[in-house]
Order: sequence, then structure tokens, then C-alpha cells
Amino acid sequence: MTAYNPPIKDMLFAIHELSGIDQVLQIEKFADFDTEVVDQVVAEAGKFAAEVLSPINIPGDQAGSQIVDGGVVAAPGFAAAYGQFSENGWSSLEASPEYDGMGMPSIVAAAATESWQAACLSFSLGPMLTGSAIHAIETHAADAVRARYLPKLTSGEWSGTMNLTEPQAGSDLSIVATKAIRDGDHYRISGTKIFITWGDQEFTENVIHLVLARLPDAPSGVRGLSLFIVPKFLINDDGSIGKRNDVSVVGIEHKLGIHASPTCVMSFGENEGAVGFLLGEENTGLTGMFTMMNHARIQVGIQGLGISERAYQLARSYALERKQGRTVGAKGSVTIVHHPDVRRMLLLMKSQIEAMRALAYYTAGVVDFSRHSPDEQQRANAASRNALLTPVLKAWATETAQEVTSLGVQIHGGMGFVEETGAAQHMRDARILTIYEGTTGIQALDFVGRKILADDGKAIRELIAEMRTLDDELNGDERLTEIRTALSEGVDHLSAATDWLIEQAPGDPDAAGSASVNMLMLAGTVIGGWQTARAALAITAGASSDDAAFAAAKITTAQFYAQHILPRARGLHAAATAGSHVLMALPEESF
Ligand SMILES: Cc1cc2nc3c(=O)[nH]c(=O)nc-3n(C[C@H](O)[C@H](O)[C@H](O)COP(=O)(O)OP(=O)(O)OC[C@H]3O[C@@H](n4cnc5c(N)ncnc54)[C@H](O)[C@@H]3O)c2cc1C
Repeated sequence: MTAYNPPIKDMLFAIHELSGIDQVLQIEKFADFDTEVVDQVVAEAGKFAAEVLSPINIPGDQAGSQIVDGGVVAAPGFAAAYGQFSENGWSSLEASPEYDGMGMPSIVAAAATESWQAACLSFSLGPMLTGSAIHAIETHAADAVRARYLPKLTSGEWSGTMNLTEPQAGSDLSIVATKAIRDGDHYRISGTKIFITWGDQEFTENVIHLVLARLPDAPSGVRGLSLFIVPKFLINDDGSIGKRNDVSVVGIEHKLGIHASPTCVMSFGENEGAVGFLLGEENTGLTGMFTMMNHARIQVGIQGLGISERAYQLARSYALERKQGRTVGAKGSVTIVHHPDVRRMLLLMKSQIEAMRALAYYTAGVVDFSRHSPDEQQRANAASRNALLTPVLKAWATETAQEVTSLGVQIHGGMGFVEETGAAQHMRDARILTIYEGTTGIQALDFVGRKILADDGKAIRELIAEMRTLDDELNGDERLTEIRTALSEGVDHLSAATDWLIEQAPGDPDAAGSASVNMLMLAGTVIGGWQTARAALAITAGASSDDAAFAAAKITTAQFYAQHILPRARGLHAAATAGSHVLMALPEESF
């Protein structure tokens, strides 16, 4: 069993060479930070992940969380780890200094998040959602409301949750039925929410639920949703904890993975109605919830990266130790890393992890520009790039995590299928990632609908044009020749599929839906190739020249991606543009 070891060198390479950190650090808001601070914070976050979170991962999986006396009791070690997490100030990394946050760039938070998610997904999911709640409150609440909630959430004394899902309303939020009734300066909320992550626990003083509900006179559909802050304990005027609100946890789910993360059935308003406070305006709740969800979607993409890295580390150490089979010229059995097929699997893992990491940190850099650049045009451009990349990072990285964690099991042979190696837990834990925060199908509809068709392909064509500019730079060094060709072909496929979609969608209502997931996976595959090519280019330009083995491995990894992953673009293009006819041909009873 291998403990998690944060790949600090790879992380810092992706930060310094691929994320845009140098330009981000020039933004006034980040004037207090320099590259030394960035490196230190990434290293310390990794150390915390390895020393405090990694050890609770397997015990947490085995024990799970429990309901005791109407409240959730977390798995052994989780409360203590949370105490240390908050004391170290990790809850406040990205939060605004105005509310006691450290105000660090999202790029730094992304790297720290990678370590924490890799070390223990079940634990890190809680602070992740608190971070998303902080972002939603900061963006949409009035000053007094911010002052009331943000310092306590930022310090980690309180936690935050996201309450959308109901038994009949999962992907389709237009049928959310939880009710909100006006009652003086607040509202009374009643209804049942299911699948609420970390809906309760015993180690924070308060739990702040962000709840989607509907007023009686609201329009139907998503336009009639409002967003409410519903604290577990009401807060007195002086900020102290008041009486218990009418909200309770009525059950937790038994599930495939992330056993230590309580997935709660929440009941609001069983008695007099839970007191809720409006966040934003009435009937604009989806806007606020999208602020929270888009933040969380990027984080879930990073969860895909983190769990993949952990699965890779375990598989790599097994491949370096396990002896089986012979190779020509070797005396006796060799370790399985000698076999070409095991190397293929390890490189499928490693190369896609590097692509995911680069995309995740790059996207975090785009977020920093979109929020804090002094230049309005740069903010707008970055916001559009962020909107385009968010569903890609969320869905492509998490789908890729399924492949990577499954390869982790495969490399272990039969030992991967039994629980004691830990490989199976990674695969089980990763399985939720393509489902929550909007399934892959829903991300793909967002990608083709809102992000491509709604702006007539402008944002994606700008990205395609930018990816093409790398072609010239890749010309010259022969180590990059194969990468250049494969990337150029991949970009051609993405471009042609985009043109097809824009042409076909107006005439066929099923065209976008039938192309969507293949389009998104095509985009992820090609953007991943662009990022690994950028990494190889940075090496040929002298990055990491003090470490020849590291530099050579980066080039080989990018070459492998070009040989084994980028050719998938051809198949994805073909499937994306096959049209809806065959897909929609079978009547329901023929399935
Ligand atoms: C462990 C766990 C934690 C969770 N945490 C939270 C949380 O903290 N807060 C919260 O509010 N929710 C949470 N959820 C709920 C989660 O977000 C939903 O499960 C998810 O959005 C999917 O909804 P559903 O389960 O109702 O599936 P459905 O919406 O019923 O989807 C079933 C299938 O149909 C597909 N589908 C549905 N509609 C369409 C469409 N229009 N076009 C194409 N395909 C479609 C989906 O892609 C999926 O494959 C959690 C769920 C789990 C399991």
C-alpha cells in the first residue's frame, strides 16, 4: 500500500510553465504574492495532504459516516483532520481578504486542491463545497449578509452545503418543488432534498445550507427558482449561535464509493418551516446556484485529476515491485514494468494526468484573469474562455479518471480487484465524479448548446485559432515533429466537428444532443494534446534543464499522448458527426 506523495515537481512545472502564473501575479490584487510564496504554499498543502489526509482515506472508506441521535458523526479521524485543516488556514486560501481569506490566486488553490482531493476525496469534498458557497455568497449577497456569513465560513468554523436535488428533480431543476413562503424579513422553507453532500456533521459550529426553492406565486420552470441561505442554527444579532432551525438530516445513503462523505437526505420545515434568507433576488435563484455550481464543476474536474494521480502512484509502485514473466535476455522473472503493455497502461495514466493537470491549472489562471484583471476586455475574454472550458474540464477530466483508475486496477491484476491494495477504492471513489455537479451528458449539452451554438462558435473558434498558433513553434526540434502532426490533425477534427454542429443544429433538433458527449470528449482530447505539446515545447526551450530525467520524461509523455491519445480525435469526430438518424431510430420497446 503506497501513501500519497504529492508530485510537487510536476505541479510546479504546470504552474510555472503552463498556467499563466507570471501574468496573474502581476495583477494588483495579488501584489503580496511572489513565486516563492506560491511554491511554498503548494508544498505545504501537499505536505498536509500526505501527512494528515492520506492516513484517514482507507479507514474512512471502511468505517463510513453514521447517523447517531439525529446527527451525522463523521468517520474516525475526520473531525481531528478538519480541526487541523481549519487551524492551518486552508479553508481560506482563495477567499477574499476582506472576509479574512488569504486571497491567493485560483491557480494556487487548484494545486492545493489537487493534493487534498488525491489524499482523501471524501474529506476534501466538504471544504470544496464550502468554498463554492463562499463564492456564491460573495458574488450575490449584500454587504451585511457577507459580513455575517463569510468570516465564519472562511475560517472553517462553519461549513457550507449545496441543496438542489429532490427525488423527482435531478438533472432537471425546473421541477424543484421545495417551497418558500414570505414571513416578514425572511422566508419559511419546507421540502425534502436528497443526496446532500456533508449535509451534516459534528465538527463545525454551524452548517450553512444554500437551498433552491420556489415561492407560491413564482413562474413555473427554472425562472421561478429562488436561492436561500438556511443555517442549521439561527444566528443572533451579535453573531453568536442561536436556536436550532427547522432542518434535519433524516438519512444517509449507502453507496459505491466516497463512504466517508455523508450523502444526506435533508428535511426542511417539518414543523414551523425552516427560516431562510434570500440570496440575490426572488426568482433569480438559478443564477446564484450557477455561480456555486460553476465553481464546484472546476473543483470536480480537479477531483478527477487528484484521484487519477493517486491511482497512478499506486499502480506505478506495484509495477516496479511485482515480478511476473520474462523478457528476452533477462535472467528469471522481471518486474512487470518491463512489459510493453504495462508501460502502455502506465503511460496512458501518466500522459492523461499531465494533460488534465495542465488544463486544470490553465483554467484556474483563466478564472483569475476573468475575476481580477484590470483590463475590461481581458476580463471579458477570460470569462468567455472559462465558460467554454468549465464543462470540458468537469466532464473530460472525470471521464478520463474512470479510464485511469480502472487501469490502476488492471495493472494490479487480481490484486487490483480485491480491496486490500487500495486500487479498487480509487475506482469506486472516482465513479461519482461523472455524475454529481451535472452528469457528463448534462455538461455536454451545456458545452454544445450554451458554449458553442449560442455564440455561433465564436469562443471555440478563438480557442482553435490559438491552438493552431502553436504549430509554428513546434516546427524545428525533431523531438516535437510527431507531436506537431498529431496536434494539427486533432485540431482539424475539432474544427470540422464544430462546423458540422453549427451547420446541422438548426435543421435537426436531435443533432446537438446526439453529438454532444463525443464533441466534448473530442475537445478535451485535443485541448489535452495542446497542453502536453506546450509542456514539451517549454522543455525544448530550456525549462527544467537542471533535471535531465524530468525533462526527458516530459517530452516522452507528450510524444506518447500524440501517438496514443490524440488519434482518438479521429474516432470522436466520426461519431460526433454521424448524425441523429440511427441513434433515434429504435422505438422505445426495442431497447
Ligand atoms: C454521492 C452523491 C453526492 C451528491 N451531492 C449532491 C449535493 O451535495 N447537492 C445536490 O443538490 N445534489 C447532489 N447530488 C445529486 C447529483 O447532482 C445528481 O445525482 C445528478 O445531478 C444527477 O441527477 P439524478 O441522479 O436525478 O439523475 P437523472 O437526472 O435522473 O439522470 C439519469 C441519466 O439520464 C441522463 N439525463 C437526464 N436528463 C437528461 C437530458 N436532458 N439530456 C440527456 N441526458 C439526460 C443523465 O445524464 C443520466 O445519465 C449528489 C449525488 C450523489 C450520488
